[in-house]
Amino acid sequence: MATRTPFIAGNWKMHKTHAEAAAFIAAAKESLAATQTVEYAICAPFTALQAVADAAKGTAIQVGAQNMYFAEKGAYTGEVAPGMLQALGCAYVILGHSERRQYFHETDDMINKKVLAALAHGLKPILCVGEDLEQRERNLTNEVVAVQTEDGLKGVTAEQLADVVIAYEPIWAIGTGRSSTAEDANAVIGHIRQVLARKFGNEAAGTVRIQYGGSVKPENIATFMAQPEIDGALVGGASLEADSFVALVQGA
Ligand code: PGA
Repeated sequence: MATRTPFIAGNWKMHKTHAEAAAFIAAAKESLAATQTVEYAICAPFTALQAVADAAKGTAIQVGAQNMYFAEKGAYTGEVAPGMLQALGCAYVILGHSERRQYFHETDDMINKKVLAALAHGLKPILCVGEDLEQRERNLTNEVVAVQTEDGLKGVTAEQLADVVIAYEPIWAIGTGRSSTAEDANAVIGHIRQVLARKFGNEAAGTVRIQYGGSVKPENIATFMAQPEIDGALVGGASLEADSFVALVQGA
């Protein structure tokens, strides 16, 4: 079986000014330095990315964005291009988060264009997939995540897949305090890996990190990480305090 380095990513969403972001990194970096077996990143708002990148210089803290547009440049008022993120030192970009799908009407097709653009610019996409409560209750979870995974990764090569991270985030578990059980999350993530294996082959699928996201906290991270298919977590609320983020990384 492939060994996959656990990966914890904090998704700050629309929280923190650039000054607050710098203070967070200053508070977290020494404790984080002691953890060498886990990879970790902070996905900050666009306006705080420079501050995070500067404060994290010389540490293992990686920087990620939470969205981007797929065009290289041009007349797209209000948008941010992949090359701009890359120039700032971003390693990752969250794409297709359920809040983007829901509030900003992002489709699988648009998310796919973003995934391809990210990879073309040396950014590693964290592609988010997950079902809503109604879909779960109708037993459509596996189908929904399969379509989102396949459509999101159209045109991606098996070689490029090594740079892709997938985050399985059931929508009903995001910010609700109600997480999936570790066993359920493991089963859905195992299914996502089978979808990848069908499309890219077993070897490539075996190397992809697939995170769980949805009300992950320092108190429950270990139960998720104990599952064989779960390779880390995408964490919103519990990533906002330095102590809590450090505890998540240490708990992974
Ligand atoms: P949460 O958010 O940890 O606050 O549930 C997770 C996410 O939306 O990425």
